[in-house]
Amino acid sequence: SKPSEWVERALERIERLDGRIGAFLALDEQALAKARALDERAPDHPLFGVPYALKDNICTEGLRTTAASRILANYVPPYSATVARKLAETGAVLVGKTNLDEFAMGSSTENSAFQKTRNPFDLERVPGGSSGGSAAAVAAGMVPFALGSDTGGSIRQPAAFCGVVGLKPTYGRVSRYGLIAFASSLDQIGPFTRTVEDAAWVLNAICGHDPLDSTSAPLPAEDFTQGLDAGVQGLRIGVVTDIDTTGLDPEVKRAVDAAVAALARAGAEVVEVSLPHCQYAVATYYLIAPAEASSNLARYDGVRYGLRVETDSLVETYERTRSEGFGTEVKRRIIIGTYALSSGYYDAYYKRAQQMRTLIRQDFEAAFARCDVIVTPTAPTTAFRLGEKIDNPLQMYLNDLYTIPANLAGLPGISVPCGLSSQGLPIGLQILAKAFDERTLLRVARAYE
Ligand code: GLN
Repeated sequence: SKPSEWVERALERIERLDGRIGAFLALDEQALAKARALDERAPDHPLFGVPYALKDNICTEGLRTTAASRILANYVPPYSATVARKLAETGAVLVGKTNLDEFAMGSSTENSAFQKTRNPFDLERVPGGSSGGSAAAVAAGMVPFALGSDTGGSIRQPAAFCGVVGLKPTYGRVSRYGLIAFASSLDQIGPFTRTVEDAAWVLNAICGHDPLDSTSAPLPAEDFTQGLDAGVQGLRIGVVTDIDTTGLDPEVKRAVDAAVAALARAGAEVVEVSLPHCQYAVATYYLIAPAEASSNLARYDGVRYGLRVETDSLVETYERTRSEGFGTEVKRRIIIGTYALSSGYYDAYYKRAQQMRTLIRQDFEAAFARCDVIVTPTAPTTAFRLGEKIDNPLQMYLNDLYTIPANLAGLPGISVPCGLSSQGLPIGLQILAKAFDERTLLRVARAYE
């Protein structure tokens, strides 16, 4: 078999299933032609000829990139994100762009301006978010891998809800060049895959220093597949004693406890650790992320990008463009963010949030002095029903309780499937590691898998 057959198979499966799932916003019309050109070449990389999808907030030259927002509905980027360029170099073939919450703001993919995405395990339930399209596409077997972005859990939580592997690398590990910015100090691109080994291969392909992203870490290339099968003998697994469990579904708790027991049987030492400031992580995140978003989204003014509502006055053009172009959740974040940054409130909100962020990072430093990885549930529940939380933003925000701390501290995290609930819904196990220690992270994930 050859690349054009693999891509044809992916396109057929998308054609057959995506009417019901809604994972894709657009397909790349050139995918098959690109794959045919590869048929003539000798494979020289594990991803050679492999079809994949990109979350639609990752720029692709000549291919519409919307961030699932009306304001970018017709935006065709003049350049590709570094991750897309790097994947093209391996010979992987982009087949399409996947749905998301508008500008990656959400936990259910219901905030897309264009369509809903359904969970392949139960079509009445959300795939999680914001990278719900990428998670659903991999879970439904449409593509072997897809990329998403994770600002507060948007790779790990949908991976948990859809029963696939989702990896958020260390902040700075993967270039953000060409990722449509949500909260720049938190955003990180990473893969959805069916196996931990595949996640390591994709990370190999997309990681590395990029002069086009000033926050990308100047580290030498690493092979994340090395040592993957070393097991957990001698590793210390941290279990958090003071994490909030009020909204934790008992079935999720049982599955995660069983996973910890399995790791212990495989030779790991289980140690208790404390993260005392993590109770403030959601509150901290929902100041810092909207503050950065309000600044990043100032560029959508009807002049430079995308939608423009023409009027007689410049100010009115700004106002109408932004009123009509942005959805409810994005507007809510802009208002929270500009409020938190405004003079008179800055010290009370934004500055306090930054101070709390430091305390959370220090909690992790202390915890990782005593263990190699920390294990928690990825999300407090399994996939919820479409419409269940959409009218209650606070409920929606609280779903990110376990994923947000890693973004605030810049740490790598992965969600691996950890069994099914009695209703047949996937449960995710989250593993966190020290900054730039994806090797240990993947090794533990692989041992559990
Ligand atoms: N659900 C979180 C939010 O709405 C995280 C989103 C993300 O990681 N992009 O901000």
